[in-house]
Amino acid sequence: MRALRLLGWKSEPELVEVAEPEPGPGQVVVKVGGAGACHSDLHLMRDFEGGALPWGPPFTLGHENAGWVHAVGDGVRGLGTGQPVAVYGPWGCGICGRCRVGTENYCENPAEAPVPGGGGGLGLDGGMAEFLLVPSARFLFPLPDGLDPVAAAPLADAGLTPYHAVRRSWPKLPPGTSAVVIGTGGLGHLAVQILKATTAARVIAVDTREEARRHAVEHGADLALPSDDATADAVRDATGGRGADVVLDFVGVDATLATAAASARMLGDVTIVGIGGGTLPVSFFSVPYEVSLQTTYWGTRPELAEVLDMGARGLLRPDVTEFPLDRAMDAYRDMEAGRLTGRAVIVPA
Ligand code: NAD
Ligand code: ZN
Ligand code: ZN
Repeated sequence: MRALRLLGWKSEPELVEVAEPEPGPGQVVVKVGGAGACHSDLHLMRDFEGGALPWGPPFTLGHENAGWVHAVGDGVRGLGTGQPVAVYGPWGCGICGRCRVGTENYCENPAEAPVPGGGGGLGLDGGMAEFLLVPSARFLFPLPDGLDPVAAAPLADAGLTPYHAVRRSWPKLPPGTSAVVIGTGGLGHLAVQILKATTAARVIAVDTREEARRHAVEHGADLALPSDDATADAVRDATGGRGADVVLDFVGVDATLATAAASARMLGDVTIVGIGGGTLPVSFFSVPYEVSLQTTYWGTRPELAEVLDMGARGLLRPDVTEFPLDRAMDAYRDMEAGRLTGRAVIVPA
């Protein structure tokens, strides 16, 4: 089969011929219906080098996957061939305290995981191929009626990651509050929808691109602002001088982190999701009082079920541009050049 593989750090992936995977005991092979192109893959191609992560190339890209059960290994029960499924991506050990409650994104026993701190498309072979080997049936979620694999794929990361970030801030978002989404691309356009569907907060979208701001408003943002030195003041103007109760940064460069901190309300949350490599100096007077700052990584297994339910009910609608496998690099080039709205999904079949 063909697979889009990252063969070394600081290089572009290549479409190469590899053997079709076969399921061992407890494993499942999924015929890939859709594999989302995440900006993190661009970071993998451009920013990382040996030693920065506990895993490395070569591996097949694609950590945001959905498809159909193709073959099951010994001992797998309850999954029939042809069953449409979404793949939970952060593959933990399955037995530590975090994994036992489904928080495999924060597995505390990574040495026992299929790959330490990664998953398919992140150290192990991912979904940008015709077939994907999934090491345990517990990573598979049957798709609810109304959701096909192309629409489900982005939900596994571009949906799940902002859902986790928003969910942990729910108590700070009753009626009368505001939330800022910085970077309304793949993750951000779904963050806007998640905030609208699960909270009563007023949603302010921030992006450098006019097209992305227009898109965010189409998806429910109440206000859209350009991203520059004046953004934080504009957020304060729009919130009666108070600032936003929750700020989610899906970019993570110095400038957006500074905007995020300066836009937050006292007692608010600033959550860094984007891995743009920026830093935010924190000192007594540099951030509003009692602002909580956190990074978040992906989401939990139970949260993926919630996100898929929202997708099937039309509460979450990923805006998808499809690309065949042999044009996957075009998807990344379009993403890098700011020509995409929503999410690019690679459709190998
Ligand atoms: P994307 O390219 O689809 O979207 C990024 C958006 O940010 C674009 O609309 C772009 O115009 C906008 N942008 C760029 N610079 C900006 C600036 N200075 N101010 C405001 N907007 C700006 O990317 P994506 O796939 O949505 O990923 C977003 C980030 O999240 C990436 O850094 C990615 O690696 C990271 N990510 C993190 C996790 C996690 O678990 N923490 C998971 C997935 C992705
Ligand atoms: Zn990702
Ligand atoms: Zn674990």
